[in-house]
Formats: sequence, structure tokens, C-alpha cells
Amino acid sequence: MGRAAGSTVEARYVRWNPNVDLCRAGDWTLDALHAHLKQQGMTFIDEAVYPVPADKYFMDPHLPNELLVFPPSSTWWVGDKWYESGAVILQDKASCMPAAVVMDGWDEAEGACIDATAAPGNKTSFMSALMGNKSTLYAFEKSANRYKTLVRMLDTAKCTNVQTTRGDFTETDPRDYADVTRILLDPSCSGSGIVNRLDYLVDADENESDDQAERLEKLAAFQLQMIQHAFKFPTVRRVVYSTCSIHAEEDERVVAAALKAGKGAWRLAPRSSVLPTWERRGLPEELGKVADRVIRCLPEDKTNGFFVSCFERVQDGDEEEQ
Ligand code: SAM
Repeated sequence: MGRAAGSTVEARYVRWNPNVDLCRAGDWTLDALHAHLKQQGMTFIDEAVYPVPADKYFMDPHLPNELLVFPPSSTWWVGDKWYESGAVILQDKASCMPAAVVMDGWDEAEGACIDATAAPGNKTSFMSALMGNKSTLYAFEKSANRYKTLVRMLDTAKCTNVQTTRGDFTETDPRDYADVTRILLDPSCSGSGIVNRLDYLVDADENESDDQAERLEKLAAFQLQMIQHAFKFPTVRRVVYSTCSIHAEEDERVVAAALKAGKGAWRLAPRSSVLPTWERRGLPEELGKVADRVIRCLPEDKTNGFFVSCFERVQDGDEEEQ
């Protein structure tokens, strides 16, 4: 197994997926997973140590209910019955964050959710798990091939509350989704944060940087268009926008442009509902005093490079903050 899914230099991340225990015969609880790991010769430790020592594992301090952290050399997962059954999913820690942030405080009475750009489905399946596999999660995916992967993944992960659509999110009519209160937008990006692809560490020649600037400009225009479409859903209160890019052009600058386009109807959610204990926050030179409301991740944090922001609709009576 290579170093892509759920793995960085110092850790391999494995997310326990409770939907399988809800839907499939057998015992697929977190306790049963710990028992299985003990049988495999793995020892649980109750503190985070990096690089993770051989044969040890612990619960991630930021996502302690579901994310397990193993040595990067734990390649035995593929073929293991927990992985094959969908009861564990190999997923980088940073990639788990957008679902955790968009679902913060959700309960079943609130309504449905959307994952606007869903394939291959890692974040969709985590949102579904955080919804307790209840209510409805609408998942959109534009690419035909990636849509097939999404459907397969959600089937294995037993995400029975997800309704998938192959299509362009920007072509949906928001009035058809009057029960939706939360949207996750994890659109296509440069991927510059993915470990082994940290382009910013490499000197580009002048022509390459011209090409890159043009590419980032196009991506940013598309990302902003997606956020603006999400803002049109009449009952949506929370929109999370994330990228696996480390470029401000796709991160803070898109957020700043979206706030401007929202004309005061949307603001960044307070830090208290955006993984408050995560230390690395946005760039103040780009977002000023609200930079601490967004999250950045870098390989130094034992994750891929990543960015997470959360817009919330301004309600009557909210205090002026920005
Ligand atoms: N959230 C996914 C996960 O964690 O597994 C990864 C999403 S990937 C970064 C972006 C996805 O958005 C791609 O599969 C791409 O095909 C899809 N996409 C791009 N534009 C779209 C659009 N307008 N509507 C729906 N999906 C779109």
C-alpha cells in the first residue's frame, strides 16, 4: 500500500465508521475494533506520540470519537476484514475536518444536508456517520467515473441516508432543497497540499509560475461560484468550504471574495464551532482579525496541507462582528 490514503510521514489515520455496526450483522463497534487490534498485536496508548511507535496506536486528540492513529508502516489494513467491510476507512486527518465542522451541533430535527462535490466519498461517509445514518444527505458528483466510485464507496460504508445524484451542483435549483440546513463544498482545487505534491517547496521557472497563476485564478473563480450557489439555498445556515490546497488564492482569498459577494448576509462562524483546539489558523495578512475562524493544516501538523472555512448565515439579532 502506498502513502496516499490516510497516511503522512509520521502517522496513518484510520476512521472508525459506525454505520457498518448499525446496518450489518456482527459486532463492528469501537470496542470490538480495539479487541481486534489487540489480537493483531497492537497496543493502545493514551497519549499522542509522533512518529507513532511500532505496534502502538492512539485516538486522535482532535477527533477522539472516531479517528485512530497508527504508525505509517501499518500496511496490513488492506485485506483486513474491518477495512474490507467498510467499518474502517483510511482517511487523512485533515480530510476528516470539513465533515466534523459542517456537522457541528447538528441534530436530526434540524433537517437534511448536502455534500456538493462528493466523490470518492470520504467526507460524505463521515457526514453520514455524524448524522447517525439518519435524515437525508444529498450527495452530488459531476464526473461519471467518479460518481461510480462514490456509489460503490457509500454502499460499502453502509451510508443508507445518502441520496446520490450525478450532476453539476451549480445546476441544482435551491428551491427543490427547502429542507437543507448545511452544505459541504470540497470542490476541485490545485491539490498543492497533498503530501508528496507540495509544489510550493519546488522552485518553478518563470513560465511555470505564469501558468500556475492563471490556473489558480480559474480555480478560484470556480470555487467562488460554487460558494455563491450554496448561499442561495433558502434554509441553509452553515456552508463549509474546504480545499487540499495551501495557496491563499484558493483559500483565504476565495473566502474574502465570498464574504464580499454575500453582502453581509453571511459571516465566518466563530472559532468555538470550528475545531477550536486546532492551533494552526488562517493567514491574518489575508483575513485580518477573523483569520482565527478558519483552519489551515501543514505536514508539520502530521497531516496533508489543507484549508477549512465555515460560513454561517447572519440571523436577525446577531451582533455585528466583522
Ligand atoms: N469530498 C471528496 C472526498 O473527500 O472524498 C473529494 C472531492 S474532490 C476534491 C472534488 C470533486 O468535485 C471531484 O470529484 C469533482 O469531479 C467534483 N466536482 C467538480 N465540479 C463539480 C460540480 N460543479 N458539481 C458537482 N461535483 C463537482
